[in-house]
Amino acid sequence: MPSRNGYFGEFGGRYVAEVLRRPLEELEEAFHRFYPDPAFQSELERLRVEYIGRPTPVLRAHRASEELGGANIYVKLEGLANTGAHKINNAMGQALLARMMGKTRIIAETGAGQHGVATAAACARLGLPCRVYMGEVDVRRQRPNVFLMELFGAEVVPVTSGTRTLKDAVNEALRDWAASWENTHYLLGSALGPAPFPDMVREFQSVIGREVREQLRDVKLDAILACVGGGSNAIGLFSAFVDEDVRLIGVEAGGRGPQLGENAVRMTQAGRVGIVQGYKSYFILDDDGQVERTHSVSAGLDYAGIGPELAFLGKSGRVEFQSVTDQETLDALKFFARTEGIVFALESAHAGAAAIRLAPHLPRKANILVNMSGRGDKDIFITAKALQPQQWRDFLLSEAASISEAEKHHG
Ligand SMILES: *Cc1c(COP(=O)(O)O)cnc(C)c1O
Repeated sequence: MPSRNGYFGEFGGRYVAEVLRRPLEELEEAFHRFYPDPAFQSELERLRVEYIGRPTPVLRAHRASEELGGANIYVKLEGLANTGAHKINNAMGQALLARMMGKTRIIAETGAGQHGVATAAACARLGLPCRVYMGEVDVRRQRPNVFLMELFGAEVVPVTSGTRTLKDAVNEALRDWAASWENTHYLLGSALGPAPFPDMVREFQSVIGREVREQLRDVKLDAILACVGGGSNAIGLFSAFVDEDVRLIGVEAGGRGPQLGENAVRMTQAGRVGIVQGYKSYFILDDDGQVERTHSVSAGLDYAGIGPELAFLGKSGRVEFQSVTDQETLDALKFFARTEGIVFALESAHAGAAAIRLAPHLPRKANILVNMSGRGDKDIFITAKALQPQQWRDFLLSEAASISEAEKHHG
């Protein structure tokens, strides 16, 4: 599975400015040296058990399967990991690697804030100072995650250049790293970017797939589904099954519909091969080759690019790609909450929606597994607004009033 010199077929590579070659080479060497080291592995395993809460369970979704009337559905409850999603697996792996490399400072980029929260938490646990670059627009939109990052002791730096969103935060983090790499590790959040990040992030997320194999060793799986933003939860799960006889299905954000700018479907629709932010893959680009605007109800799936390994596995046909809309996603979230008492993150609910679509077409003896990459607590400001707008508005207004009231009393 590892890349050949950083390439997965034609995808991947390391298309970076000269100033970033040394830090990336150093990181690659360190990863190959420390990752196989039993001391590194045992420390990481201890953190997985004591801190992350691994292994995360696999739930046999009896009531959901019964109601849909087809295949048995299993759900990997990755959202029960500490901080609420799979992102902590990668954040902790890289933070530990950075500490072993003697780095004394961590920087990261974040869009919606989920990767920033995971990184800030891992750094708090390991006692490493952490700075997170975040577009000014996102800082305003994602206040709950900014609050959590700061609670974990991270410094959140609002980026005011360009569109003041994720793309600009990445550029700012890279600028910092080019000047600071001798003591600083850049902790990238998904299985993308220049080599060695795609290989490294897959390895840190591969614990998801290994656990599922072990947990379902007596079950013959017919299909495995995961949502795909950058691709880290999907590749981490799929990597254990690539050589097996099982359908692997990646689910992208169909957003509000098929028009350019209304979704984040790179593999079955608008995607074009390009080189953006250090790697070659499919991206949503306009006619001038510029990165196009995207949309998804889930902030973690609206990225314009996809990790190079999934691009390769998609092009070769090993991984199938589907997309589901914002509306199907919200319906899936409600369905699993009602039938199983679990609330999917909006990202993960895309995979849940694809499972709802697939299960009735399969025989009762078939088995499918869907990755709940995260839990939905973080999305309450979006889901409650969408599902109960009036009650939610009243609640927020009364909260705001109670803050004003308290300010009056305390000056
Ligand atoms: C960030 C995020 C994703 C998307 O990222 P991948 O790298 O594609 O896994 C999916 N699910 C959740 C819960 C996330 O926070």
